[in-house]
Amino acid sequence: MGMNKDNPPLSTNFIQNIINEDLKNGKNDGRVHTRFPPEPNGYLHIGHAKAICLNFGLAIANKGLCNLRFDDTNPSKEDIEYVESIQADVKWLGFDWEDRLFYASDYFDKLYEFTLGLIKSGNAYVCDLSAQEIREYRGTLTEPGKDSPYRNRSIEENLDLFQRMREGEFPDGSRVLRAKIDMASPNLNMRDPVLYRILRSTHHRTGDNWCIYPMYDYAHPISDALESITHSICTLEFADHRPLYDWVLDKVDYSGDAKGRPQQIEFARLNLSHTVMSKRKLRELVMEGYVDGWDDPRMPTISGLRRRGYTPESIRDFCDRIGVAKRDSVVDIALLEHCIREQLNQHAPRVMAVLRPLRVIIDNYPEDQVEWLEAENNPENPSMGSRQIPFSREIFIEQEDFMENPPKKFFRLSPGGEIRLKSAYIIKCEEVVKDENGAIIELHCSYDPDSRSGGATSGRKIKGTSHWVSAQHAIKAKVRLYDHLFTSENPDDCEEEGADYKSQLNPDSLRVLDDCRVEPSLAAAEPGSRFQFLRQGYFCADAIDSQEGHLVFNRIVSLRDTWAKIQKENRSNQ
Ligand code: ATP
Ligand code: MG
Repeated sequence: MGMNKDNPPLSTNFIQNIINEDLKNGKNDGRVHTRFPPEPNGYLHIGHAKAICLNFGLAIANKGLCNLRFDDTNPSKEDIEYVESIQADVKWLGFDWEDRLFYASDYFDKLYEFTLGLIKSGNAYVCDLSAQEIREYRGTLTEPGKDSPYRNRSIEENLDLFQRMREGEFPDGSRVLRAKIDMASPNLNMRDPVLYRILRSTHHRTGDNWCIYPMYDYAHPISDALESITHSICTLEFADHRPLYDWVLDKVDYSGDAKGRPQQIEFARLNLSHTVMSKRKLRELVMEGYVDGWDDPRMPTISGLRRRGYTPESIRDFCDRIGVAKRDSVVDIALLEHCIREQLNQHAPRVMAVLRPLRVIIDNYPEDQVEWLEAENNPENPSMGSRQIPFSREIFIEQEDFMENPPKKFFRLSPGGEIRLKSAYIIKCEEVVKDENGAIIELHCSYDPDSRSGGATSGRKIKGTSHWVSAQHAIKAKVRLYDHLFTSENPDDCEEEGADYKSQLNPDSLRVLDDCRVEPSLAAAEPGSRFQFLRQGYFCADAIDSQEGHLVFNRIVSLRDTWAKIQKENRSNQ
């Protein structure tokens, strides 16, 4: 297995329990073989990450194999761009399908052959009803369906018509091939479901070779069988399709091409608060310009999370923590944020960046002097060492760290008040300079030369500590602050009242600050590298837009850990 070695073992879950039982009973000769089967009709999202971690994770934990299979049976919606992005995303998450990359379209010939067998055994027929008529004949949950008038065509006629469907003799939508099961079944999926449709659409792999395409429910069990999959894991909405999955495996004779018989197992899909997960909706947000592409850092896509600054480890950690259940629920997005914070708290260097600069002139500091002061890179992780930062007569502090008329308990700078500059001196505000409109332009301060670490007055008690940068050394940067893409926790819920989920979009999900100043150690920040900006959160140099001379940082998360707070409240309420 070429699997990622530092991937933590999956905590045990009900699917692992099924596997344990199967292994104990010698089922599948002790093989465990899973697959991740995306349809290449969009980019992967965090829900897919759950399925990827589960399928690849179970393979790793059980010394088995996991395939990547593109479920490409619907050429009209699929695209090579998606095929490529999906492979990149799975790899980035840290998983390896080795030489087992498959496409359902690889099996089109085999499927056609199997289908001729299905017709010969009297289990499928060509039906000339229109889509509309098929719907009408299907019945409802409370009423049985009606048999199609074409249901009792002879095997010879069915074989002839199906072959001519394949030859392209009939127009799109004029005929379908259906399974002959039971129009009175309480399960609607078993009421003679469509197996093949006529569709003239160029396929990204098979080109115009085919004008008939198999339906997902038919192609999927056969693809699983042909790859000798043992545990075919899918989301809960397919539970009602399981009888059809089993019916196909019962009726199709694949035994010459495969070992064993796959078993479908359903688990609860991931829903995440403050976002949407339907590919249709994500596609709409991209195509209609509500976001800047699939990798917009606000998107719940894997490429969006990567661009935002999330690491593969943090996403795998998240998938591990949410576990695998049989009942649907909504996971708080604060947990995802907690996972990246935990990792970066240990590993990201801490630096100073002033997002909304306020100029401070230290009048008693020598005009041409520059001191290089030592600053720790990460107090949580002393092995990360320290760096030198320049201090000079003019610095920038954060606008919000000064208040002219401070309320009680404002522990930052105000007229006549003092503040400690992180890794530097204590300064005192002597004068506030304003423009003709009364807006504050700059502060004049004095500093206490003995107040640095080791100095005579370094122990003086000062309530507030601020971050700062030296004005002449600081580097201009653009900073993008992100917030939840949707204001409401469950944007889909409003659809029950007839509203559009897009009405829940957060108008302030992106704020751009164009005139930030960062310390000079960030001048050549690698695109994609991550930092803690002291007191401001964790940031990532944008992998595409940031470069030396034009720095752009994305805020991954703020420092406020709402998940830790929720956990603490839960504990104290118990
Ligand atoms: P579509 O509506 O296009 O079929 P989909 O979300 O089912 O959308 P697929 O590409 O078919 O997309 O999904 C690939 C795999 O990922 C499937 O096995 C599916 O069950 C799983 N998956 C999709 N969404 C989630 C989710 N939110 N949580 C967990 N697994 C998911
Ligand atoms: Mg699907």
